[in-house]
Amino acid sequence: MDTSSLHKFLEKTHLNGAEVKRRRLTLYFISYIGGIIMAVLAAKNLARDDHYLAFWLGFFSFSVFANAALSHIFKNSNIFYYIAGFIVAVMVAVLTITGGYNNTGLHFVYPIILIQIIIVRFRAAIFYVTGTVGVVAFIVYYQESIPANYRGEDVSRFLISLCSFIAVAFISEYFWHKSRKEMMTDNLERLRQANSDPLTKVPNRRFLESVYFERAMKNPADYFPLSIVVVDIDYFKKINDNYGHDVGDRVLVQVATLMKNAIRATDVVSRTGGEEFLIIYPKTTLSMAVKLAEKIRVEIENSPFIEGDIFHSITASFGVATALTDANINDTVKLADEHLYEAKGAGRNRVM
Ligand code: GH3
Ligand code: MG
Ligand code: MG
Repeated sequence: MDTSSLHKFLEKTHLNGAEVKRRRLTLYFISYIGGIIMAVLAAKNLARDDHYLAFWLGFFSFSVFANAALSHIFKNSNIFYYIAGFIVAVMVAVLTITGGYNNTGLHFVYPIILIQIIIVRFRAAIFYVTGTVGVVAFIVYYQESIPANYRGEDVSRFLISLCSFIAVAFISEYFWHKSRKEMMTDNLERLRQANSDPLTKVPNRRFLESVYFERAMKNPADYFPLSIVVVDIDYFKKINDNYGHDVGDRVLVQVATLMKNAIRATDVVSRTGGEEFLIIYPKTTLSMAVKLAEKIRVEIENSPFIEGDIFHSITASFGVATALTDANINDTVKLADEHLYEAKGAGRNRVM
């Protein structure tokens, strides 16, 4: 897992979730409240024998309910926001054409068009709103062939005030989005720092425990069998003692880089302690993980640390264990740890 996939992982897990939830809840709330209000108005108009208005109100009430209900079923689709925006456009057009009750329909265009701005994504909303206002302007200027009847001064005042209203709404939306984006970038950077090791740049133990394992437990089908390999550099203390701490640090970076380059994009190398690393292989059996660990062991053995007059062979010991189901990842980590100690006891530079 490189820095950009770590970013994506954190973004998906922590940040975008909130925004997706906000948009979804806004859609539900507006759809259900709006749908109920329109259903009530439809019933009232039916009682007044205004069948024409009752029909349209009933039709829109049904459309928004159906759209919201479908978005409950197809949770991952964004199409319902766009459909909602389209229903709003048709609603505004019908309201303008019929004139609503006694030609008072235009008053309701303001709150309805605001729904487009809130629900449809910012850029798409510009097109939706422009299109809707264009249609409304066309209808009110060429009103000879429609049932509604608006006075000339009302029409021009209406259009000017509607455009001002939309401009204010967009300005506020723009700055809200901008500040949200800045906050997200800030948060993401802070999250990245909290979840990775500053020396080797690989994810740390915190990332595994509070992000990765939780994600795996939530989507077991994508992660299990989950193989865990604990890696500990052999006689690392000697490197520090012989060449100093700085050289030790560079050895850690070299080993981390080597392991990072040896894994697939979906695997994770993390630094869990001083000279201890943990590699995670999702969807990997125990026998496969042992083979992969053996490959890395050989690569480390064949990559001595060379710098100036320093030529130091490096080896590491490996403990492998596999969690077959999401039962308990921590037990598997413990088991891999026990296997590492067996590898150390058996003479080091081996996979257990
Ligand atoms: P073994 O083969 O049994 O694993 O022996 P070892 O010397 O590798 O293990 P030990 O746990 O005795 O020593 C680990 C050393 O790693 C001790 C500590 O000073 C050093 N260390 C821990 N973190 C860092 C670090 O960030 N940088 C450097 N340079 N050294 C570190
Ligand atoms: Mg060690
Ligand atoms: Mg150690």
